[in-house]
Amino acid sequence: MKALLLLLFIYLCYLLFKSRKKSSGKKFDLSEDIKKTADDIMVFDPCCKIYYPRKSCIAFKNKDEILYFCCKECKNKFLEDRKKGDFK
Ligand SMILES: [Zn+2]
Repeated sequence: MKALLLLLFIYLCYLLFKSRKKSSGKKFDLSEDIKKTADDIMVFDPCCKIYYPRKSCIAFKNKDEILYFCCKECKNKFLEDRKKGDFK
């Protein structure tokens, strides 16, 4: 009797897994979900000094750090100011 319940449980898990895969319709739904979550991270704009959702930010890679800006103007301004020595 126990084995039967176990089988039923496995079958239900299988159904759940199957329906999940079907509903997404995408091959890499899990990684896509992670990507979505990561895109919702708030990042700091060092020019405006405010936090912005990363998905609407402009990323700028600089050596070993990645900077995020709310707009192109911010990025240019920050880089110019840094050249002058206003920023570290
Ligand atoms: Zn900005």
